Amino acid sequence: VGELARALTSLADGLDVPEPDDDEEEGGPVVLVLEPDDAVRRRCLESTPPGPRVRFVSDPMEALEAAMDEEVLGAVLPAGGGARGGYAVARSLRTLEGLARLPIAFTGVEESVEARVKAVHAGGRVVFAEGVGPSVLRAVGEVFSEPDGDAPTVLLVDDDPDMGEVVRPIVERRGWQFAHLLDPGDVFAALATHHPDAVLLDVRMGAIGGFDVCRALRASAPHRDLPILFLTANASEEVRVACFEAGGDDYLQKPVLPTELLARLEVRIERLRLLRDRARRDSLTGLAMRGAAYERIEAAMAQAKRHGRPLALGLLDLDRFKQINDELGHVVGDRVLSAVGALLRDALRPNDVAGRWGGEEIIVALPDTGAGEGKRAFERLLGAVRALDIPGVSDREVTFSGGVAYLSVDGDDLRTLLNRADARLYAAKAAGRAQVVDAEADEVETP
Ligand code: GH3
Ligand code: MG
Ligand code: MG
Repeated sequence: VGELARALTSLADGLDVPEPDDDEEEGGPVVLVLEPDDAVRRRCLESTPPGPRVRFVSDPMEALEAAMDEEVLGAVLPAGGGARGGYAVARSLRTLEGLARLPIAFTGVEESVEARVKAVHAGGRVVFAEGVGPSVLRAVGEVFSEPDGDAPTVLLVDDDPDMGEVVRPIVERRGWQFAHLLDPGDVFAALATHHPDAVLLDVRMGAIGGFDVCRALRASAPHRDLPILFLTANASEEVRVACFEAGGDDYLQKPVLPTELLARLEVRIERLRLLRDRARRDSLTGLAMRGAAYERIEAAMAQAKRHGRPLALGLLDLDRFKQINDELGHVVGDRVLSAVGALLRDALRPNDVAGRWGGEEIIVALPDTGAGEGKRAFERLLGAVRALDIPGVSDREVTFSGGVAYLSVDGDDLRTLLNRADARLYAAKAAGRAQVVDAEADEVETP
C-alpha cells in the first residue's frame, strides 16, 4: 500500500493535482525540476521509482513559487545564461530565505571545460550532458540527499577555553555539531564519543603538543583518514612545514577568520564523505558491499518494525554463471555483473537496499513490501534482467534465481530472514532456475 500511495502522490505532483494529505510521510522535501516538456515529465514518472519526491515546474516563476511553499532538497535546471536561463533561475532561488546553499544540478551542459566551469560558477553541484530523464533524476536524488544526511561534527582540541567560545558559534551557525576538548590526553575517548568528521588541533598546549597528538592519531588505523587542521598563532614557515610533517591536512592562523575556517573544513569533510561512500561500494556492480548492505538492511528492518510496516528480503543468484565465464570469458562475466548492478540501481527505489553479497549473489531489501508483493517485484526484476542487451552475450538470456523472505511473516531478525531466503533460493535452483520462490514447497501446493 505504501508503494502505491507513493506512486500516486508522485503522479499527482507531476500533474499538479493537490496531493492527498492523509499520509504525512508523503510530505517531506522535494526535488524541484524545471522541465516544460510534458512528454519528458511523463517518461520520468513512468520509469523513475519515486525517491525523494519530484516536483515539476514549467517556468522560472513557478520554480520560485514552488521553492517558497515547499521544503526543497535541490533543484534541477537547464544550463543556460540570459535572463530566463537556468543560471539566472539558480541565482534567484538562492536569494530566497534559507536557500542560500541550495544544491543545484544543471542538465544539458556541453562537455567542454569552459561550459562546465560556467555551470559550476553558476552554482552547479553536479552537471549532466543529457537533459532531464529517469537516470538524471536518480543520480540527482542520490547527490542531493547525500552530504546533509546528518550534520558533520567538528571536534576542537585546545587547552584554551576561550577558543571554544570563538569556534563554537562559527561552526554551529553553519548547522554543524561542535565539541570542545580541553585536555588532549583524552583525545581518543573524545573521538569515540563524538565521531567527528574533522578535528581542529591547537599546536601549543600544556603537556602534549598538537603535533604529537596528530602523530598519535595517524598511527591509529581508524583515524588515518580523519581531516586534521592545525590552529596556530605562529604561522612561520617552520611551523607550517611541521604541521604537514606531523600528518596534518591543513593549518589555520589564529585569530581564525570564520569564512576561511568553514571553507577549509568543508572541503575536507566533503572529500572524506565521498571517499567513505566509495569505499563502501563494490566497484564492479556499483552496489553496496556486503558489510555496508548488512548495516543498511538492519537499519531498514528496525525502521519497518518501529512503524509496523512490511519488508521483503531477497537473495538473488545468477544462474549458471560459471558457464558464462567458461564459455564467454571472465571479461564478459564481469560485464554481466556490472550490467545487472546498473539495472538494479536504476530500478530500485532510493530506500531499497541492494548489495553484492558474494561473487554473483546479490541481496536486496524492499521496505514497505509485503508478502506476495515482494515475489512479484523480484519477478519484474527477473524480466528486466532477461531483457538486458549485454555486448558479447547475444546467444543466451541472463537470468537469476531468487529466494524471498518477509519480515514478521518469516522472522524478526536478519539472520532468520537470510536463512529462509537462502533455503528458498536453493529451492528455486532445484526447481529449474530463473524463478523466484517466497514460500516452502508444501505451502505453495496447498490449495
Ligand atoms: P547456479 O545456477 O547453480 O548458481 O550455477 P553457477 O555457475 O552460477 O554457480 P557457482 O556458484 O558454482 O558459480 C559461480 C561463479 O561465479 C563462479 C565464479 O567464477 C563466478 N564469479 C564470482 N564472482 C565473479 C566476478 O566478480 N566476475 C566473474 N566474471 N565471475 C565471478
Ligand atoms: Mg550462480
Ligand atoms: Mg553462487
